[in-house]
Amino acid sequence: MPTRKNGVAFDLQKQPITALAGVGPRVAEKLATRGLSALQDLWLHLPRQYEDRTTLTPIRALQPGVAAQVEGTVEAVERGFRYRPMLRVAIGDDSHATLVLRFFHFRAAQVAQFAPGARVRCYGTPRPGQHGLEIVHPSYRLLGDDAEAGLGSALDPVYPAIEGVGPASLRKLIGLALDRLPQDDSLELLPPSIRDALQLPSLREALLTVHRPQAGEDVAALLAGRHPAQRRLALEELLAHHLSLRRQRLAQQAHAAPALRKSSLALKLQKRLPFQLTGAQQRVFAEIQADLAKPTPMLRLVQGDVGSGKTVVAALAAMHAVDAGKQAALMAPTELLAEQHLSNLRGWLEPLDIRVAWLAGKVTGKARSKVLEDVASGEAQVVVGTHALMQAGVAFRDLALAIVDEQHRFGVHQRLALRDKGTGGGGNGNSIVPHQLVMTATPIPRTLAMAAYADLDVSAIDELPPGRTPVQTVALSAERRPELVERIRSACAEGRQAYWVCTLIDDSDEVVAQAAQTTFEDLSKQLSKLRVGLVHGRMKTTEKQATMRAFKEGAIDLLVATTVIEVGVDVPNASLMIIENAERLGLAQLHQLRGRVGRGSAASSCVLLYRSPLSQLAKQRLETMRQTHDGFVIAEKDLELRGPGELLGTRQTGLAGFRVADLARDADLLPQVHQLGTHLLERAPDVAERIIARWVGGAARYAAA
Ligand code: ADP
Ligand code: MG
Repeated sequence: MPTRKNGVAFDLQKQPITALAGVGPRVAEKLATRGLSALQDLWLHLPRQYEDRTTLTPIRALQPGVAAQVEGTVEAVERGFRYRPMLRVAIGDDSHATLVLRFFHFRAAQVAQFAPGARVRCYGTPRPGQHGLEIVHPSYRLLGDDAEAGLGSALDPVYPAIEGVGPASLRKLIGLALDRLPQDDSLELLPPSIRDALQLPSLREALLTVHRPQAGEDVAALLAGRHPAQRRLALEELLAHHLSLRRQRLAQQAHAAPALRKSSLALKLQKRLPFQLTGAQQRVFAEIQADLAKPTPMLRLVQGDVGSGKTVVAALAAMHAVDAGKQAALMAPTELLAEQHLSNLRGWLEPLDIRVAWLAGKVTGKARSKVLEDVASGEAQVVVGTHALMQAGVAFRDLALAIVDEQHRFGVHQRLALRDKGTGGGGNGNSIVPHQLVMTATPIPRTLAMAAYADLDVSAIDELPPGRTPVQTVALSAERRPELVERIRSACAEGRQAYWVCTLIDDSDEVVAQAAQTTFEDLSKQLSKLRVGLVHGRMKTTEKQATMRAFKEGAIDLLVATTVIEVGVDVPNASLMIIENAERLGLAQLHQLRGRVGRGSAASSCVLLYRSPLSQLAKQRLETMRQTHDGFVIAEKDLELRGPGELLGTRQTGLAGFRVADLARDADLLPQVHQLGTHLLERAPDVAERIIARWVGGAARYAAA
């Protein structure tokens, strides 16, 4: 590609948005808060979805979870107050079915509009509600009784909202920016060979199709995100993220790390354990040992299902650091989890005369100073804690291994912050950094791991310790809820404990907390002989922790909770879990939740309560849960089943959110991405840089850190 031509395009794409008519400083500032400052940022502000307003769907034909446009006559209006103000409008049509429109935020004028008999056209995604299907906050308009309002002729793009810039203005601005797309292919960064091989359009064509789908376009493909134009953009976006991670890895490996060879302590610990390591644990530990022995930093992710025994592997790795006279740190995302690690590690290591220190937010005052002192002097050989470990003021004498548990709960940046606690942590060029071991109980399929963790090596503990009794899983319709009260009563009468998990999808913490509160009150009444506890996200941390601790100590029989209990909690005596609205949760989350039971020797069960009607997808998910306990199988199934945008978002992968790509949907592109990434890094690093800059932009700032 001739560089001069590219130079011109490059300038054009970097032109500030303020060059567009109608963009003053105020709008520019709003756009900048979302990282939109140059023309190309507007080109790449891609529709999140499309609304198909070219047809009307009869109310009777609506399907839960499938967005549609409907038209009907207002039959009834109800204004109420349940947890918060609410407006419900029932509309009916010729198909003799009723649909409820539900609003939580509304003005008086809106209420007045919905007079019985008024005709409404609305668009949204119906979900099962109390009285059949309902749409929460549909987009709608009222139709005058004279004119038949025409239907749209093409798909309407829906853009990710930007605060302070209305959807109509945003659409207009993007239109203006698109008018300035260069006519030639000077923007193109992908080699023509790959576009030909995959039959993908040019960047210009792809952008125009995605932003302005024409009437003849393949609507179904666009709505599903599988149109060649979308795949072309997804390929480039995946490539950009992949390159940015690989660049990060290269930067990492330019650092040095202490080579930690043999460890007699690790052997000693292994001999003293009350159990034999599983084959998978041994294999993964051997992989870690090989990494640690090198003078470059280890960057290894250990994936292992809940209960697969990751902690002990981490402890063994830590022995290599201690044996070399250096330190190891283990960081967990919650205090409860960190405390659990602390007590395990103390149990294993103190008999070997290894000093294990504890650092969390609540360690304050004199105690804190003492810990900081021990960490700085090296007196503390292993340090366990929460985010508090990363804070300024925490200085290690010689940190050689940084272990991060449940890595999906932390961002990439936090991981790096712990790394920077290493010996030469001042960032002075070729400094010595600690080895890094990150652990996750959210297995993701191999293909995804390659893309999501291109900066890490991946090991899998794919075997559970022997002697676990698998959890019996059943799916029950919510109507059978009363039977469960009996079931809880009898489980607790035998000295067991139970979880009742409240979930809702509509969606605010507040509503879920309310539901949990209500369930808590109901169950407390019905099970008056039992000690019932409650935890939800709206409670103070200290309150939450106190309740969790009481449950762990057996002072609570039944714990009513929201999904805050998802991660890491180990209460082997709990043998029954009930999950409400299970049909609305993704497989990964259901699996995580279920992992809280079946940790002891008693037979455990998990009841998935659902509300009819079940969508096809929900049916298959519940079926999968009944059939398997293997996190890797579940992850594969998840990938196969899940609709766009459902799971495995930023939180799980540690990746920034994608604009167009979807790791699951576009998984088949990943081998290409990998190959192309290698090619570009070797042959055309400047093109690689530009692809990263175009898609990852500001987020790549951290990459070189
Ligand atoms: P996770 O991988 O979910 O973090 P843990 O490390 O908490 O799992 O281990 C779960 C339980 O299994 C702990 O009580 C641990 O001591 C025990 N455990 C670990 N490895 C083995 C093994 N090889 N045999 C028997 N029990 C084991
Ligand atoms: Mg764990």
